Amino acid sequence: MRIGIVGCNGRMGRMLMEAVLSAEGCRLSGGTERAGSDVIGRDLGLLLGRDPVGAVVSADAEALFAASDAVIDFTAPAATLAHAAMAAKLGKVLVVGTTGLAKEDEARLAEAARSAPMVYAPNFSVGVNLLMALTERTAAILDQDYDIEIVEMHHHHKVDAPSGTALGLGRAAARGRQVALDSVWCKSRDGHTGARPKGEIGFATLRGGDVVGDHTVMFAADGERVELTHKASSRAVFAKGAVRAARWAAGRPAGLYSMRDVLGL
Ligand code: NAD
Repeated sequence: MRIGIVGCNGRMGRMLMEAVLSAEGCRLSGGTERAGSDVIGRDLGLLLGRDPVGAVVSADAEALFAASDAVIDFTAPAATLAHAAMAAKLGKVLVVGTTGLAKEDEARLAEAARSAPMVYAPNFSVGVNLLMALTERTAAILDQDYDIEIVEMHHHHKVDAPSGTALGLGRAAARGRQVALDSVWCKSRDGHTGARPKGEIGFATLRGGDVVGDHTVMFAADGERVELTHKASSRAVFAKGAVRAARWAAGRPAGLYSMRDVLGL
């Protein structure tokens, strides 16, 4: 399978090229960067500190789509929409990891996906997607005697809290209980808070060091506690998940798929 990477010199772009190069049965068909980037014309292998692979960074995304079976895009919203139009025109698989798409952008992506198979996910880690599904199921099985608390830890550069993934886990737990998260959440506690209300979904945020992302969902009852934990130690997990999505989408009908579809959750 020929897989191309748009935005190939980004933090994720490099991880994605590594993931394609080490995936069995996959060939790196090329990589693009923004016109004017100083890496245009450089060999993709040399860019990664490897041996040359004989393909160079280009600014011609249309040519990359034509030469690929699938393209993986972790760039920026405007670029992703342009790439989605190209994938639609040529009927090629597109895997989108770009975050920050506005509602209208998502609608345009869905429109493009009527002409080609596309997988779009805010988190491509297989483990995190499994954790979401397990959280929803566990919350549906365990009743309100089990207090749900979500604990996350990230590196000291992170600027938002709780993390988007922690909130996603909260939404999954709320779905399992058939309630709206924002009617039961408690995003932080301080001072004299009173006793914990039944049915609350609480969040606790830790920050420090170089932690890539740890998440634990606790179901705590009198007498027992169930804990579901995921720990990411490298961004490579997102790249591996994206390559898995590209392989899964090959040969499928046009449509907008999620990581839950890819993993059969
Ligand atoms: P980055 O800034 O390091 O990389 C983005 C790259 O895209 C840059 O090299 C940039 O030059 C390139 N680019 C922008 N416009 C382009 C265009 N028109 N043509 C070609 N290249 C173009 O950012 P990053 O940390 O790699 O993250 C990229 C995106 O992926 C962000 O939206 C981030 O939130 C998202 N992300 C998603 C997941 C996930 O699992 N879904 C995981 C990590 C990051």
